Amino acid sequence: MKTFKIGGVHPNDNKLTADSLIEVFPVLETAYISMAQHLGAPAKPVVEKGDKVKVGQVIGEPAGFISGYVHSSVSGTVKAVELMPDLAGNPVMHVVIEVEGDEWCEEIDRTPDIKRDIPYSSEEIIEKIKNGGIVGLGGAAFPTHVKLNPPKDKKAEFLILNGSECEPYVTADDRIMRERPEEILIGAVIMMKALNVTQAFVGIEVNKPQAIAAMKKAAADYPQIKIVVLKKKYPQGGEKQLIDAITGRRVPSMGLPIDVGVVVQNVGTSLAVYEAVQKNQPLIESAVTVTGHCVTEQRNFLLRVGTPFSRILDAVGGLPKDAAKFISGGPMMGKAVANIDASTLKGTSAFLLMTEEETKRKQESNCIRCAKCVEACPMGLEPYLLNKLCRAGNKYDELEKEKIYDCIECGCCLYTCPANIPLLDIIRMGKADVMKIIRNRPKK
Ligand code: SF4
Ligand code: SF4
Repeated sequence: MKTFKIGGVHPNDNKLTADSLIEVFPVLETAYISMAQHLGAPAKPVVEKGDKVKVGQVIGEPAGFISGYVHSSVSGTVKAVELMPDLAGNPVMHVVIEVEGDEWCEEIDRTPDIKRDIPYSSEEIIEKIKNGGIVGLGGAAFPTHVKLNPPKDKKAEFLILNGSECEPYVTADDRIMRERPEEILIGAVIMMKALNVTQAFVGIEVNKPQAIAAMKKAAADYPQIKIVVLKKKYPQGGEKQLIDAITGRRVPSMGLPIDVGVVVQNVGTSLAVYEAVQKNQPLIESAVTVTGHCVTEQRNFLLRVGTPFSRILDAVGGLPKDAAKFISGGPMMGKAVANIDASTLKGTSAFLLMTEEETKRKQESNCIRCAKCVEACPMGLEPYLLNKLCRAGNKYDELEKEKIYDCIECGCCLYTCPANIPLLDIIRMGKADVMKIIRNRPKK
């Protein structure tokens, strides 16, 4: 069975919600829609207090090349356009909408019929994806239209859909592959047309047998798309690891997938592309897993963008008494939710609650030079050395020489360290400093 060659770890799956159908979340009372939904420049609000909006209406416009449209996920009246704290507590511009009914823009096709014909040119597809505000749903929330439009000197040969969902606990992608396999594949065909490639792969980890079966059955009608079963290993879903596993190609240091002729998109993104291109539906909702051993009712929801995390808690039996940590995403690469009143973003895949016991960090001790972190690092780095250099301060040249910029912040080193050294936290900070220096360096 295929997998990436260097490093990786095997955390417990904890896929508590794998057999829970995706349920449509009840209509909200108020939606809080952030203008910082994607990587790059936040969108510029184009509505004002008192404006009436429908579901799917543009409320934010791109404010740069790497930026995107933001649409209203609800219908109602704009109550405020103001700075509000995001999940980390940082002030971000939001459009707050008081919900009235559930009125959708007329051009959105809400019928369940599957539309297979793709009568659009490559340029029209990219325009529709851009207008639909589609961003990568695999983590980074990079605007999809930018990724589908590589620089003129780079040529895509393959599209790879990431269905590996290697993060413990998260089951949103597993569920959409089981419940909507053909729409995901049509999304892939649309992106293949945009990229002008003739071959696509969907990588799925072996621990999702029903998703593999559903996708293989649907793919029988799409011979240009091959379903590839992958070994269960974290971080199988990392772009570079997925490309290595499926094509054997190695993305160069500081390079991008397109440097080896590959474009990677998440299966959720592919479904969003299908909806934007075939149904005129912008990205206003997505599948989100709400999970954790302490959660009373673990579930998968189809959630509107802008749903407050506190509102989600109400729908799963309330705040568990022993919940000590809230995470947006999975336990390995997710982000801590410091502000429970913050709202979901387009890229939110999961809301994970963990207890004190589950998250307690053990006492740090001295490095015993066991090299377990080196063995686990999927990027071939030496985390113990990076940690030492970061802690010494000002060792930026050495850190650059050790390619700290290649760290994908997967946390494998931290997971494996018997001395409980917070390797990821230290390396992440050092990487941010080195990246700042590299970005500010005058171009030759
Ligand atoms: S967090 Fe960075 S250094 Fe640690 S294992 Fe992952 S890639 Fe390697
Ligand atoms: S795993 Fe921890 S103890 Fe072992 S070499 Fe790496 S940093 Fe040191």
